Amino acid sequence: MTNRDVHLERIEEKVRAGHRLDLQDGIACLTTPDLFGLGRLASAEKERRYGRRVTYVFNRQINPTNVCVLTCSFCDFAARPNSPKGYEMSMDEILDACKGGFREVHIVGGLHPKWPYEFYLDMLRAIRRAYPQMQIKAWTAVEVDFFGKLARKDVREVLADLKEAGLDAMPGGGAEVLSQRVRKALFPTKIGAERWLLIHRLAHEMGIRSNVTLLYGHIETAEEVADHMLQVRAAQDITGGFMSFIPLSLQAGDTGLADRPTPAGLDLRIVATSRLMLDNVPHIKAYWVMTGIPPATLSLNFGADDVDGTIGKETIAHMAGATSPVELLRGQLEEMIHDAGMTPVERDALYNDVEVAAA
Ligand code: SF4
Repeated sequence: MTNRDVHLERIEEKVRAGHRLDLQDGIACLTTPDLFGLGRLASAEKERRYGRRVTYVFNRQINPTNVCVLTCSFCDFAARPNSPKGYEMSMDEILDACKGGFREVHIVGGLHPKWPYEFYLDMLRAIRRAYPQMQIKAWTAVEVDFFGKLARKDVREVLADLKEAGLDAMPGGGAEVLSQRVRKALFPTKIGAERWLLIHRLAHEMGIRSNVTLLYGHIETAEEVADHMLQVRAAQDITGGFMSFIPLSLQAGDTGLADRPTPAGLDLRIVATSRLMLDNVPHIKAYWVMTGIPPATLSLNFGADDVDGTIGKETIAHMAGATSPVELLRGQLEEMIHDAGMTPVERDALYNDVEVAAA
């Protein structure tokens, strides 16, 4: 393989020799003029691990409320307490939304000032009782930290309560960009990078595996993105508890931070760079909800090995103007994977294979 960018040639040698990429390598990947050369490198690395297989999950996403005490400036989903735009789902509505034989339910929402801590535990218990076969992946580190304040409990106790009530795994939201500058500029009142990483480390130590996200397409620099990946890699060296890295492209929405969807070239660069930088995070996700289906399909030839799931009814990105469908059927996800020349494999929330479709 020859690359048109000398930096990529150096990176290819390092990858082949099993050496880790550093900050400068990450920046070189994110800024290379040879996008397809980068894609070939990342795709070769994905194929070395997984061959042509790409996984997906039959899941349902539930966002029980958008009422939130914070006002992150990139967020089009949240409504201030007492705002007419706020909504709250009842327990019956939440349980009803779980109907359908899903393998996973993914639950995240706003930081509601009035819902008691017990409501979240009751939600887990009720879902577990009604749907014992379905795995529950719920609440970001930002929410877990908030629960600690609600209950006046240490975050370890909160995680133990959630686990006992039925939590199987945590999603990776709230990481945004692990950069003090970006956090200060866009979401100064949200938990900081150290706290986010600490909560995931504690969860991993307690046997709760999780994911990790990156929100891009706003004010972040290539150096901050590469550094974000290095921080994730260092955290993963300690616990090994991250299952998947999920790049999230910012939606144009009404926040004023972006006036158009992220360019497909940037979506592909981020996926490919994360595959090469994150040698210890098993899965790199092409999250079709955020990028739309064509870039997500292309991402499967740029290093991604997972497309998340059927989703059921996505609210957060669609309130920010996402133009992707609010759900996909199993067959549509498999078609998308076939379109990329790959073989779909159904998985559960913890990335165990559950069914292999014919290629
Ligand atoms: S990103 Fe999360 S914490 Fe921030 S305002 Fe939106 S819902 Fe609230």
